[in-house]
Amino acid sequence: MSLDTTMHRIDLPALIAAVADTVSAHADELTALDQAIGDGDHGLNMKRGFEAVRAETATLAEKPLPDALKAIGTKLVMTVGGASGPLFGTLFLALGKELPAEPGRAELAAAFGKAVDAVAARGKSQAGQKTMLDVLYPVQAALAAGKTGAEIADAGDAAAETTKPMKAIRGRASFLGDRSIGHVDPGARSSALIVRIVTETLERDA
Ligand code: ADP
Ligand code: MG
Repeated sequence: MSLDTTMHRIDLPALIAAVADTVSAHADELTALDQAIGDGDHGLNMKRGFEAVRAETATLAEKPLPDALKAIGTKLVMTVGGASGPLFGTLFLALGKELPAEPGRAELAAAFGKAVDAVAARGKSQAGQKTMLDVLYPVQAALAAGKTGAEIADAGDAAAETTKPMKAIRGRASFLGDRSIGHVDPGARSSALIVRIVTETLERDA
């Protein structure tokens, strides 16, 4: 089953559990990436946020998808902290605002595009600055181009790797200037991890 049909019968509790499991399992890796070019809190920030979302699963599951996404965004803003909390929060809040209750592929791609633009506006950032946007934009492009879930996930992983030679222009890593070169951006990596587990879970549960 493909992403085209799965959005109609999304299993939100399974999705929340899968994302929280992945983020928590990779917390040390994300922390190590942030230790290299930031302050070493990205893994813990993300784990705290997504475990807080997991704790709300029962309440979230009762809501229509757009409302659940907005509630997830608000929770992430309140609990992740750092620069990434408001940015991931904005992504989910904007997705909730843009998505209809039973979105198809075209609506998902359009809503995700607007949500990524909202993140860029919130962060006053753009592609090429060594941030989560360097994963979110290519993922959006793959989604809009009709790629399969596996292809979208691979595009996300590849995009995270492209941040390695980049010099950080936004966020804490930008304080390092040229010394930010040679490390994968933590927020790009966490974005790719989330994209992979979301696509895998949606396709598996279809
Ligand atoms: P902090 O930098 O406050 O410690 P985190 O470590 O949780 O917050 O998150 C850092 C990540 O946030 C970076 O790796 C980057 O991907 C993302 N980020 C930071 N600032 C911006 C921005 N202005 N626009 C987009 N993404 C950003
Ligand atoms: Mg940090």
